[in-house]
Amino acid sequence: MKFHAWFECFSGCGVRHDLEQIVYRCESCGGLLEVRHDLAAVKRRPAAEWKQLFDSRMGRASGVWSKKEIVLPELDAGNIVSLGEGNSPLIQSERFAERIGVDELYVKQCGTSHTGSFKDLGMTVLVSMVNEIRSSIRAVACASTGDTSAAVSAYCAAAGIPSIVFLPKDKVSIAQLIQPISNGAITFSIDTDFDGCMKIVQEITKDKSIYLANSMNSLRVEGQKTISFEIVQQLEWQVPDFVVVPGGNLGNISAIGSGFVLMREMGLIDRLPRLVCAQTEKANPLYVSYREGFRKQEPIVAGSTLATAIQIGNPVSFSKAVKALRATDGVVEQASEGELANAAAEADRFGFFNDPQTGVALAVTMKLVKARSIPASSRVVVISTAHGLKFAEFKVRFHRGQIPSVDSSLQNLPTNVAPDVNAIRAVIDGRIPA
Ligand SMILES: *Cc1c(COP(=O)(O)O)cnc(C)c1O
Ligand SMILES: [Zn+2]
Repeated sequence: MKFHAWFECFSGCGVRHDLEQIVYRCESCGGLLEVRHDLAAVKRRPAAEWKQLFDSRMGRASGVWSKKEIVLPELDAGNIVSLGEGNSPLIQSERFAERIGVDELYVKQCGTSHTGSFKDLGMTVLVSMVNEIRSSIRAVACASTGDTSAAVSAYCAAAGIPSIVFLPKDKVSIAQLIQPISNGAITFSIDTDFDGCMKIVQEITKDKSIYLANSMNSLRVEGQKTISFEIVQQLEWQVPDFVVVPGGNLGNISAIGSGFVLMREMGLIDRLPRLVCAQTEKANPLYVSYREGFRKQEPIVAGSTLATAIQIGNPVSFSKAVKALRATDGVVEQASEGELANAAAEADRFGFFNDPQTGVALAVTMKLVKARSIPASSRVVVISTAHGLKFAEFKVRFHRGQIPSVDSSLQNLPTNVAPDVNAIRAVIDGRIPA
């Protein structure tokens, strides 16, 4: 079977470009581009056969490339740059579900990945395309709140392609900063915020020999949309009622939405889940817009937040996110600093190890369940976007009581004790009565 995909203007002006072209916006109207697939060709294979095919590839090294036909069908397989992305666990917690008052709660652990965040899913696609058109490209560049730069630098290093990353100074974690440094990227630490870095990288990549790796480049979305396929596959082809996604630049919620819509087109599912975008109160342009029925889509200046990976005031994929939310009868809710920190720490007590962005998604889930906007009978999937180990400073600050308005009963500090067995027994008996 022959499959085909291309860039097409998202604003609907009809302009198309080949995927090998170095183009990030519609050359006619300046709007965003999206990757479109020849759906007629995709639908020629019956749904039952697609399911069987995808299930038969479940154990493959890459969750993204095991769905190559609906990601980048025409890429030469020899050019794939993979670091074993995707196939991340979907963990059900009956105990945490009971605690928050919902029937079924799952956490999709997208941070269980090579560089510790879901950005790997999009980057394998983008860097593989760069690898295919490599002769015209000097380097790959991105602005980042930390995780994109880690993914760019790792995948480029794997392929032997130079990378350049622009990070807002003092707004990324140590783990995030050391990743591009270790992978040999040209790493700029700039005295501005993410939105400022984004402006710089757009200038730098006007030179077409420097390829833009931000999610404005819609190749990323193609990899990330496999998250939706994996969730449904892991639920034995059943659809969850709600999928909660922390949103910053809004590429991921757009990708997850487009994954579900494509699955319905393919006949793999017969209904869509309701998407929930979770934003921090400090960087909530989508929430503000949602409250007004999406009539206006305006940037804000993002305030300082613990959830640094979503500290974005001018999201590139604003209009794509609105489309995904409209298509799925979606909801946008926000969480305060205290709420996100408490939610992360509370879920940690059920065996998770949450980063602050996942904390936002968990806090929003808890709020919506409490308000009955998510009915108690629901099956809910929370997208965990990064590994908690990338945000150790956040977790240390929580337990040291350095974050205001949190539940201090969740704080847990090491007990300093002399090397004396009786003293240690006394501590244990004090904490766990015999
Ligand atoms: C990038 C990122 C997000 C936000 O994803 P967008 O596509 O920018 O909305 C959320 N959490 C983490 C950990 C991230 O790295
Ligand atoms: Zn256009």
